[in-house]
Amino acid sequence: MTATGGCLCGGVRYAVSGELRAVHACHCSQCRRWSGNFVATADCRSADLHFAAADTLVWFASSQTAERGFCRRCGSALFWRRAAPATEWTSIAAGSIDPPTGLRTARHIFVADKSDFYDIADGLPQHAGRADAATAA
Ligand SMILES: [Zn+2]
Ligand SMILES: [Zn+2]
Repeated sequence: MTATGGCLCGGVRYAVSGELRAVHACHCSQCRRWSGNFVATADCRSADLHFAAADTLVWFASSQTAERGFCRRCGSALFWRRAAPATEWTSIAAGSIDPPTGLRTARHIFVADKSDFYDIADGLPQHAGRADAATAA
């Protein structure tokens, strides 16, 4: 097991048995409204994500192609995954992972959609859209 985590109320608890990838901070408008801020996530293989508790876990179709998992009791934003077409990856909200996570933030994505109440000043790579798109100025 490489990591454990869960929501604020404990209704959702999970363990990850495989590798967690480096953290991406996503500044897109959907993450902003979902969380109230930008969302930092670490990807794992969906087959490596195991639930010790999931009674309050709800999946919401947040777009035509993706869905987001959250706790319906405490509201914690927990998971993002592509639904159409599905992939083998699930993105886990990094703040829900029990520290020490051993993870580091690698980059900022969708910075073209970020709100104006904060600046990104950590010197990490910034991408206007997805990480494989051109780097923003
Ligand atoms: Zn909860
Ligand atoms: Zn996003």
